[in-house]
Amino acid sequence: MIPSRSVLDRQQIVDRLTELLGASQVDTDHRHLQEASVDRFKKYQSVHGIFDGPLPAAIAYATSTSEVSAVLAFADIHLVNVVPRTGRTGTEGGLETSVEDSIVLDCSRMNRILRVDEENMQVTVEAGVPLQVLEDALRRRGLTTGHSPQSKPLAQYGGLVATRSIGQFSTLYGAIEDMVVGLEAVFPGGRVTRVKNVPRRSAGPDIRHVVIGSEGALCVVTEVTVKVFPFRPENNEFHGALVDDMATGLAILREVVTGGFRPSVARLYSPEDARQHFAHFSEGRCVVVFVAEGPSGIVSATSDEIRRVIASHRHTAVDAALIEEWFDDLNWGQDKIDAEKELMRTERRLGYTTEISADWSEVGAIYDSVLHRIRTEFPFASDLTMLGGHSSHSYQTGTNLYFVYDYVIDCDPRDEITKYHVPLNAIIVEEALLHGGSMVHHHGIGKYRSPWSEAEHGSAYAILEGLKRQFDPNGIMNLGTIFPVDGAGLVPRP
Ligand SMILES: Cc1cc2nc3c(=O)[nH]c(=O)nc-3n(C[C@H](O)[C@H](O)[C@H](O)COP(=O)(O)OP(=O)(O)OC[C@H]3O[C@@H](n4cnc5c(N)ncnc54)[C@H](O)[C@@H]3O)c2cc1C
Repeated sequence: MIPSRSVLDRQQIVDRLTELLGASQVDTDHRHLQEASVDRFKKYQSVHGIFDGPLPAAIAYATSTSEVSAVLAFADIHLVNVVPRTGRTGTEGGLETSVEDSIVLDCSRMNRILRVDEENMQVTVEAGVPLQVLEDALRRRGLTTGHSPQSKPLAQYGGLVATRSIGQFSTLYGAIEDMVVGLEAVFPGGRVTRVKNVPRRSAGPDIRHVVIGSEGALCVVTEVTVKVFPFRPENNEFHGALVDDMATGLAILREVVTGGFRPSVARLYSPEDARQHFAHFSEGRCVVVFVAEGPSGIVSATSDEIRRVIASHRHTAVDAALIEEWFDDLNWGQDKIDAEKELMRTERRLGYTTEISADWSEVGAIYDSVLHRIRTEFPFASDLTMLGGHSSHSYQTGTNLYFVYDYVIDCDPRDEITKYHVPLNAIIVEEALLHGGSMVHHHGIGKYRSPWSEAEHGSAYAILEGLKRQFDPNGIMNLGTIFPVDGAGLVPRP
């Protein structure tokens, strides 16, 4: 727990926020404050009603950029920690209020789609627009964002940009950083900054990247302009195959993607992970999945190449209809989150994930050494009910691995994180870094991987730290996120 540095007490913070925003935009309900003090990293504790970290002083609901600016000006002067939030699907502790008497600055009421520009193929939204809402609106016009993280039904644009999110169709459309044309953000002190919308420029470093991925630790994203694309689902073609091992599956992904083809989906599941998704046909083998999408000529050429590459490896073909059926039920809305909560309550077990990335030459070795270390070093390996993973985002130079681990909790819910989640996370992070990869592919650093931020960036960490010093000199933005805080008591430095 980090003590507040503010000279104001809780009630004074609430009073000032109420003066700035009005009572209807300031929430101090005890239950809401408890829920606002954590994110999905502490999902097991919260489902058991355990909220033992500091509670925020209030949740402030902003409805405009000027209100965000007013709150950040107030917070900066009085040294009150601010945790921005939108869709609340964050998984890495980025929403945890580790500082006493923080303000949770909620932008979900900034939810207007401001402009759809079909000539210049871009759309401008406020930070609180849910991706699903925008996607539904665009599809009615025959357009798509091309962005489809599994959290699409719930995640909103502020968080999508702030975490450097990525969707299932990334091989074709890219990740959020490839989609953002321009944006508006508010910095501590209340300064509003707009990065204008241009197709490309050579006007110094790309300022968008100071904001994209900043996880609420530098500024608050208030408005975003993203690209749009034609939506042609009628052309989609699905492909699936069973292969004997991860090495064969990785070789197939690599050959298709590095050969210049851009299927929208390119995935490989380990046998254990495949059993969770494709139990009725996976036969204890790895499953390779592709979707070809876009204009019909491109779909046909991409599908031909996928078939050719798969055929050149030992495999068993999977009926395309089975892959399509699975794909239609992949996303997580509130219904699946509620079902997961019920399972955590009744069965004392849960599943977590840790995602990393690495070059093609290293990724197989990382997969093998992580599984080996967890099975041989982790003292509570017998509590694991599932350990495996998948690759879901491939590039010219490498791919990601999304480790998936489920366990039964054989301890007080309070100890679950230190007994299971943190040590398992640590093994995966260590192996990724050891092999020259990245410790985090798309969920953000949050507060639980920040002890390794310096190791992740090496000599470039000075640049990252410089951004914090420059834009948040008083250290009011989401303390402990991205940038480790000694003594924060979250995870000890490795
Ligand atoms: C079931 C499930 C599936 C998921 N699947 C994917 C996936 O496929 N791909 C993927 O990339 N991620 C995935 N995630 C992670 C998560 O959904 C993404 O990180 C998402 O981008 C978070 O958006 P959000 O609106 O929910 O942000 P929040 O949870 O509200 O916030 C996340 C982080 O962003 C910061 N933040 C939020 N809003 C702002 C703002 N306006 N300005 C500045 N900072 C802000 C917060 O402080 C926090 O650090 C998944 C999560 C869940 C629960």
